[in-house]
Amino acid sequence: MCPSNVGTSLSYFPTLLKDELLYSAVARYKRQVAHIDGEKTKRRLFGTSTLPATLPGNLTHFLGHLPRGAISTEEIIERHTIFPYFAPFIGAAAVARTLSAMRERDGLAVKVSLGIARSGIKPDYYLRFCLDCAHEQHRSTTPAYWNRAHQLPGVWRCPLHASPLIDRCANCGPFDYRQAAMPLPGIKCDKCGHQHARPAETLSSSARTAEKRFADLSSELLTSGLRVAEPSVLTGGYARAIAAVRLKAKGPALAGKAFIDPRVQAYWGPELLERLGMSSGNRFSLRVPIVPDVNTSYHPVHHLLLIGFLFRSIDELAIHVGSATQ
Ligand SMILES: [Zn+2]
Ligand SMILES: [Zn+2]
Repeated sequence: MCPSNVGTSLSYFPTLLKDELLYSAVARYKRQVAHIDGEKTKRRLFGTSTLPATLPGNLTHFLGHLPRGAISTEEIIERHTIFPYFAPFIGAAAVARTLSAMRERDGLAVKVSLGIARSGIKPDYYLRFCLDCAHEQHRSTTPAYWNRAHQLPGVWRCPLHASPLIDRCANCGPFDYRQAAMPLPGIKCDKCGHQHARPAETLSSSARTAEKRFADLSSELLTSGLRVAEPSVLTGGYARAIAAVRLKAKGPALAGKAFIDPRVQAYWGPELLERLGMSSGNRFSLRVPIVPDVNTSYHPVHHLLLIGFLFRSIDELAIHVGSATQ
């Protein structure tokens, strides 16, 4: 981890906290030290004003500002980005390509390498935080920071507290990470001082349970260290589990229509699937990542919907595919 006060070209860079996004530490750095705006801070540290919040690029440039050995690109990528959430599903070649893009190229190259644009899962520009986490940090004098698990697609509830996550200040709008004034979470808005309030619960109890279940599974995936040599290892495990529960599947691709099975839909419920853009009628509702297909890019969200139904947990999946978790 970075020591609190480091030499070389930066006299100080904040110590990265547990599960803190690198973007968040840069926002804290900007707030504490840099008397320049967010754009200039990003340009100075990364050589570009583009800094995606969850999957940054240009890490070699950034590391050049810290003392040798303070932190490695591997540590940043594994602990302070959401790359580990994608890694089990893309195969060894794409892992190597994406790691190289994160080191040497910009955020767009990282996204292209992961096939995010082709996956049908919409990008999310708003950062989210949990007010209960913020209160705990405030009481313990830990700086408020953006937690990477809260930013995973479809995670709208804190895995720790089950509280709905907040993605905006009621007074000055959403926490768009592309803002020049890089936002930070907290019990009060760091832009206007407005005291954040807990969002009203508008969902049914079953929808809340499904949201929490999806948040737990997504967060478990992020920290599981699960790696498989090739996606076919996973899809073989899915196919065996699908056969064992006699999931309804038809069409040329085995289980290509597994979402048709009412048990999968019932497990997640209509509200969650609709919010993910996968309600019936949407073509993505029929995509299930059973058979690797070079023309299709499956997002971890697609995998998680199936993994949750078939295995309940990432640990159980790892046992079934015979893969050692790190
Ligand atoms: Zn929380
Ligand atoms: Zn505000």
